Amino acid sequence: MAVLRKTGGLRFFSKEELTRVVGDNFCMSERTDIKSLEFDELETFVTEELGEKKFRAGQIFSWLHEKKARSFDEMTNLSKDLREKLAEKAALTTLSVEEVQTSKIDGTKKYLFALPDGNFIESVLMSYKAGTSVCVSTQVGCAMGCSFCASTIGGKVRSLAASEILDQIYAIERDTGERVSHCVLMGIGEPLDNYSNVLSFLHLITDERGQNMSERNITLSTSGLVPKIYDLAEEGLSITLALSLHAPTQEQREAIMPVAKTYEIHDCIAACKYYFEKTGRRVSFEYALIDGVNDRDEDAAALSALLHGFPCHVNLIPVNPVVETGYRRPPREACRAFQKKLEKTGINVTIRRELGRDIDGSCGQLRRKHTGKDILE
Ligand code: SAH
Repeated sequence: MAVLRKTGGLRFFSKEELTRVVGDNFCMSERTDIKSLEFDELETFVTEELGEKKFRAGQIFSWLHEKKARSFDEMTNLSKDLREKLAEKAALTTLSVEEVQTSKIDGTKKYLFALPDGNFIESVLMSYKAGTSVCVSTQVGCAMGCSFCASTIGGKVRSLAASEILDQIYAIERDTGERVSHCVLMGIGEPLDNYSNVLSFLHLITDERGQNMSERNITLSTSGLVPKIYDLAEEGLSITLALSLHAPTQEQREAIMPVAKTYEIHDCIAACKYYFEKTGRRVSFEYALIDGVNDRDEDAAALSALLHGFPCHVNLIPVNPVVETGYRRPPREACRAFQKKLEKTGINVTIRRELGRDIDGSCGQLRRKHTGKDILE
C-alpha cells in the first residue's frame, strides 16, 4: 500500500489504483513520499503504516524539515529497526545539483536540479538586505503558453510533489550553509495548476516544527486561474499573491497569454480584490514591459484605469529576451516614463531590480539548454 494525498485528507491506494489516479503528478513508487506528508499525515503514517507511537512523527518531522536529513540512517535517535522499516516503506526525496551558475554582478545563484525521474528544474537564490530568497519551480515545464516565457516552450511534463518543491530550498541551504528566509513561487510552472501539492508545500515550509518560514515572506505568482485564486483566499494563509497581468486590456492580454481566453481580465481583478478582502494582503501585479507591445502611453492609461482605487502594487519587469520570442525590452528611459505615468495616477509601482542578468536570471532557459530540443519540440 502507498499513501497519496488528495485534497481533504489522506487516502490509501493499492498499486493498481495508484497507476490510475496519479496522472501527471509525482511518479510514486510503492513507498510513501515521506517528505511530502504534512505533520498530521505523518502521524497517521507513523501509527497506521509503521505501527509506531505517535511521538515518533515529531522526531522524524524534525529530521526531515529542521535538520534536513538526506537519509534515514542519519536519524540517530530512532532505533535501527525503525530506520529499516522506514527505508522499506518510505522514500526520501532529495534533489541533486546538476549545475550552478553564479552571477559575477550580484552573486545571484541559479541552480539546475536533477529530479529522481531524470527531469530537470531550476531555482534561483537571491540575497537581499532583508534575507535570502529562493525562487522555486512548481512543475516540470508549464502548460500556460505565455508567448514571452521560456518555461512553457515544451509544454508541461508533470507537476512537482511537495517534497520536490521543498527540497529546492533545502538543497540550496545544504549547498550554501545559509538559512533561506523568503521564497517566491515564480520559477518554472503554474503553481495554481498544482494546487494541492503547492498547498502542502506552503503548510510544510511554514510549519514551526520545521523550516518555520513566515507566511509573510512568501509570494505566489499566478497567470490567473480564477477559481483557484478564490480557493487560495479561503486557506487562511498570509502569503502575498502576485498576478501576472502583462497587458491592460482583455484583447491585448489574450494575444500574449492564452490563459486569458479562459479567465477574463476583469474576472482576474475581481478575484484579486476578493483575495485582498479576505487576507488583508496587498496584491502585486506583474507587468513585463515589451517594446512596442504594451509600453505605449495608452497602455499606461488603460492600466491605471483598470487598477483605479485598488490598493495594490505594480511590478514592472523589462522583458527578459528569450531567443524564440523576438520580444525586446524598452529602453531604460521608456520604462521610467511608463512608471511615472502610473505613479501620477496614484498607483504604487516599482521597476523590478534585475538580479543575475549575466546568468539568464529568469527561469526556464537553463533547463532548455540542458534538456535539449528532443523533449521540448
Ligand atoms: N506561472 C506563474 C509563475 C511563474 S513565472 C505566473 O505566470 O505567474 C514568474 C513571472 O515571470 C510571471 O509574472 C511571468 O509572467 C514572468 N515572466 C516569464 N517570462 C518572462 C520574461 N521573458 N520576461 C519577464 N518576465 C517573464
